[in-house]
Order: sequence, then C-alpha cells, then structure tokens
Amino acid sequence: MSKPVVTSINPATGDVLQTFTPHGSANVDAAIERADDRFQTWRLSSLTERSRLMHKAADILDARKDAFARTMTMEMGKPLREAIAEVEKCALVCRHYADHAEAYLKDETIETEAKRSYVRNLPIGPVLAVMPWNYPFWQVFRFAAPTLMAGNVGLLKHASNVWGSALNIEKVFREAGFPEGCFQTLLIGSKAIEGVIRDSRVKAVTLTGSGPAGRSVASIAGEELKPSLLELGGSDAFIVMPSADIAKAVETAVKSRNKNNGQSCIAAKRFFVHAEIYDAFTRDFVKQVEALRVGDPMLDTTDIGPLATKAIRDDLVSQVDATLKGGAQLISKPADVDDKGWWFAPQVLSEAPRGTPGSDEEMFGPAANLWRVDSLPEAILKANHSDFGLGSAIFTQDEAEIEEAVRDLQAGSTFVNALVASDPRLPFGGVKQSGYGRELAADGIKAFVNRKTVSVS
Ligand code: NAP
Repeated sequence: MSKPVVTSINPATGDVLQTFTPHGSANVDAAIERADDRFQTWRLSSLTERSRLMHKAADILDARKDAFARTMTMEMGKPLREAIAEVEKCALVCRHYADHAEAYLKDETIETEAKRSYVRNLPIGPVLAVMPWNYPFWQVFRFAAPTLMAGNVGLLKHASNVWGSALNIEKVFREAGFPEGCFQTLLIGSKAIEGVIRDSRVKAVTLTGSGPAGRSVASIAGEELKPSLLELGGSDAFIVMPSADIAKAVETAVKSRNKNNGQSCIAAKRFFVHAEIYDAFTRDFVKQVEALRVGDPMLDTTDIGPLATKAIRDDLVSQVDATLKGGAQLISKPADVDDKGWWFAPQVLSEAPRGTPGSDEEMFGPAANLWRVDSLPEAILKANHSDFGLGSAIFTQDEAEIEEAVRDLQAGSTFVNALVASDPRLPFGGVKQSGYGRELAADGIKAFVNRKTVSVS
C-alpha cells in the first residue's frame, strides 16, 4: 500500500510544489515524549537563558527573512513583500518577549495577614498549537515566543497547505539553540489532533482558525478539562463618520480589506458609512480598489496575489454570487484574472441584505461590503448584528462618538482613526464567535501558566 502524502500546491499556478509524508502515530508519540521530557528541565531554565535563545531566534529570522518569505508566498500566495514584513514582525515578537517576559511573569505581591503572600506564574507543560495558513509565520510566533519564555514547550500542528513553513519554523528554534523538544512540528492532519489533545502529557491547546475547527478542539479539550484558547474568524466593522479625515479613512479601508490578499481575520469586512460622506467615501474607495494590481505575488509591483486554495476561492465566489442574488449591488468593476491558479479580483458590494453572506458571514478574500447609515447608533446596531466580534474601527474626530463606539461595539478591540492590527505590546483576541482568551502582551504569556497562590505564615 502506498504511503499517504500531503501535497503543497502553488496557488498562483495550481502546480504541485512539494509532497510531505505525514507523521505516523509512533512519530507523534515520540514527539510528545520528547516534549514532556524536555519540559522537566526547560521549566527550571533561567529567564536570562530563555531570553538569550529568543534573541538568537529573532536574529535568525532577520537574517533569513527572504528565504522564509519566499516559501510562504509559494505555499499560500501572499505578496512577497508582505511575507517579508511578516517575518520581520516575528523577530519583533521574539524580542518583545525576550525583553519583557521577566516583568510579565514576576511574582505579584498581595498584602494579607500572612508574612507574605503572592501569585507566582509557573509553566504547565507541553502546549499544542493548531494554526492556520493565512499568516504561516506570525500566527505561530505569537504563540511560540510567549509560550517558550513562560517555560512551557510547544507542539505545532500547522495547516496542511503550509508544511514547508511549519518545518522552517521548527528550524529557527533548533538553530537558535533551544534544546531538543522545546518546539516541534507535528506533520499531522486535523483528524490526528484529537489523540494529541487527549494525551495526558499535553496540558493545553490553542487554535487559530475557523469556527468549526475551534468548536471541535474546544469540545475535546473540555472533555479532558484542559485549558483552551480560541482565535477564530471575524467580520470586522469599519465605521466612517462625517468628521473623519476621509482620505485617511479610504486609504486605511482599502488596506484593511485587501492586505494579505483579503485573507486576514482582522480585515475590515463590513463598512458602515454616514450618509453625509457616503458618496465621497465610496467613489474614492471603489477607485482605489479598482487600481489594486492583481498578479504574480513574487513581484514587488503586485498588491493582490491568488487566494490560498481552490476551495477558498470557490467559496468566496459562491458567497459573492449569493449576496448579489440576495439583493446587493456590485459597485466596482473587477479586473480580469487568469484561469490557471486560484485568482479572485477585489470587488465592492453595497447594501447586502440581512441573511446574505455579505451581511452575515465572514468573506475570507478581497470582497468588501458597504452600507449607507444615517447615524452612529444605526452603524453600531448593524455592526453588532454579526455573530463575530474580533476587531472594529471607527473614523471620527468626535470624542463623544469615540466613547459611544468603545462602549457599544461588540468586539475584542476598537481602533480609532487607525488600522486594526496586532501588536506584541497589546492584547489580541475576540468575543462572541470570534473566540475567547487573549494572545500577546502580558495576557499572552499568562494564557497557559499556573497562577499559583502562595501564602507564607
Ligand atoms: P481552518 O480550516 O479552521 O484551519 C485552521 C487549523 O485547524 C488548520 O491547522 C487545520 O488543519 C485545523 N482544522 C481544520 N478543521 C479542523 C477540525 N475539525 N478539528 C481540528 N482542527 C481542524 O481555518 P483556515 O482556513 O486555515 O483559516 C481561516 C480562518 O482562520 C478564518 O476564519 C480566519 O478568520 C481565522 N483566523 C483567525 C485569526 C484570529 O487571530 N482570530 C487569525 C487568523 C485566521 P488542516 O489544514 O489539516 O485542515
């Protein structure tokens, strides 16, 4: 019988790039054993030593960013210059935790009648990360840097279309000098995840991905009474009010919707624009979307590459069709695209009715939905109709409107007059169907620790 293989396909051409042989159960068991063994010594390592190695990982990322970026672009189609910027951001998150872990983790004194009482943040063991393909490096590093600095060890199950990148990430940590077993890539499909979560040596699981994957992982973790963290989909609202700097709002809106070929969880996907400025905003927005250059993601001149897989492209096409059939209008002229590869030209739809995908679902590609609104309460009401609650943005100069948006928008973040973006210094996560728990900043490093209460009398 022939061995099963996982094939990696270049989305720009549809050609096969590479094939991988998935790890069998014996390999997986050995990896978990190595992780468990390593944890016994890694948990006792000094923060100075962890920090030294994490700085080394950052240096390797900087030195080899072009090569790592090329693999990402070949595997999932993002423009090469965005892939390079992604590797640079991974170096940043490594340095952030290398420099701040000690302060984030330090004992927290609480005055009581005892001689001394405090909270100590202790590592818990091997943590499984189930990760998506859209930011093949960033999603993993924002988990790995805090996890390793906390004294835990990591097991990565990466999306099946980016296993070249998954192996590159393992290499970064190995070459940085992290001891064997600190960070390992498991080349397994999603069916093999259950066994890993149920393994008593694995202490927690984090997943970034879709709702169905999150539900499955969280329910298994729940049965095993293991902590889980979920970073799921989003359909972020972007509100523009009359006092806004319209040019800046348009530029940010175009970037937010279309960066990473429109495949970002925190992309603005639904735009609510006040009637007073709707025509001016929409005219410029459509003009700038139509000017985006769709093509070979390896070229510096390209803004939009192909979507990552055929299934994702086909899903987006049917979502757009259903939204138009449901009563929305197409208000831009999409560019012609190649038949070979998984192409989708950016487009702009308006007034998608409730019940259509443009209104109710996440569109994971460069299709924007706009609505004209008469007031901020109407914009917020419509924004909150979504089941998702990841990020949100408002463009306004009015302090009262800012307060109202911060108070009422149901989302894990609200950015005012700025692009919603993850930042190692700020907690990141969602509410509602966008998941639970927070990554990055102090929250991220405390996601998987035993916050032990100590009382000495
Ligand atoms: P996905 O299909 O859910 O895959 C994500 C990971 O989960 C992959 O490793 C995948 O493995 C695995 N998986 C798939 N089905 C599973 C199941 N039933 N049980 C356990 N694991 C399963 O998502 P995706 O298409 O890669 O990513 C796109 C989604 O991720 C979007 O909804 C996006 O918004 C979301 N996302 C969220 C964030 C955030 O921070 N909140 C960031 C990025 C992306 P296989 O590849 O082997 O199937």
